[in-house]
Amino acid sequence: MKKILVAFISFFILLIIMIALVAFFKTDVVVKENDKVQIVATLFPQYDFAKKILGDKGNVKLLLNSGVETHNFEPTAKDIITIIDNTDIFLFNGTLLEPWTEKIIDNIEKTNCKVVDVSKNIDFITIKEFEEKNINPEIIYEEHEDEVNQQIYDEHIWLSPKNAIIMIDNILEEICNLDPKNSDYYIKNAQKYKDEILKIDEQIRNIVNSSTQKEIAIGGEFAYSYFVSEYNLKFVSVYTNCGEGENPSIPRVKSVIDYINKKNIPVVYYEELSEGTVAKMIAEETETEALVLYSIHNGDTENDSYVSLMNKNIENLKKGLK
Ligand SMILES: [Zn+2]
Repeated sequence: MKKILVAFISFFILLIIMIALVAFFKTDVVVKENDKVQIVATLFPQYDFAKKILGDKGNVKLLLNSGVETHNFEPTAKDIITIIDNTDIFLFNGTLLEPWTEKIIDNIEKTNCKVVDVSKNIDFITIKEFEEKNINPEIIYEEHEDEVNQQIYDEHIWLSPKNAIIMIDNILEEICNLDPKNSDYYIKNAQKYKDEILKIDEQIRNIVNSSTQKEIAIGGEFAYSYFVSEYNLKFVSVYTNCGEGENPSIPRVKSVIDYINKKNIPVVYYEELSEGTVAKMIAEETETEALVLYSIHNGDTENDSYVSLMNKNIENLKKGLK
């Protein structure tokens, strides 16, 4: 315990020294006239949105390595340097949705890096209220054992395309403030991407409207409060939260299996970052199909985009709604 404490204190002393050094060297540099805009984003959605807005006039770094989940993220000293070194804008979802940022936000603000909460103007969904309103009474949920891991809000705001558009506008505003001479270019890029997202929203709405049974099954981590709320989808799920791990009780899994059989639900979804072990097991048991419903916390920075992953969701949603 003492060792951990010493390591912890040393880490923070090191951190403060590094931040002080970077702040010291950066004080005279305000806007780098001919340099490109430099942005660091915590999660894939804001990474992708910023990249699309900036086009060739800037660079965006994603803080997470691909394939990493965010809920228990602890920044390393290297991450902190990435955030503050030569960065104009730090994009995150605010301290309520990304509590790990609370420890570092004050210090980032002391540098020339602008801290931008991209969740501004979005109505958050609290997990408790969502559960109270939406939990399927036929599923056996036990009390949450590990209260420490229970988050207050569902943080996956971007899974509602409407929220994605608000996030884009928040990012656009700050990029235009930083580099006003190119604001027409940024506004045009943002509009083009917002149009693509509106098309996705319309397609999902059409699929939902044309299906008679508007109910999906989730056999893994639950990141979809905003998604199901946006489209008035009913759902049956093994979990009601994201980051609960992969150990649901046997009675709970059994109740989900019974419900899928009873309602003839054709697909069991799971998040892309998980192996989908439980979903695949349920699919086998119910003779249905296990498919990914992308939660888009993270993505392949070379090949994926918010739009490309949402398009995959559209394809899989067509199979899961009847
Ligand atoms: Zn999640």
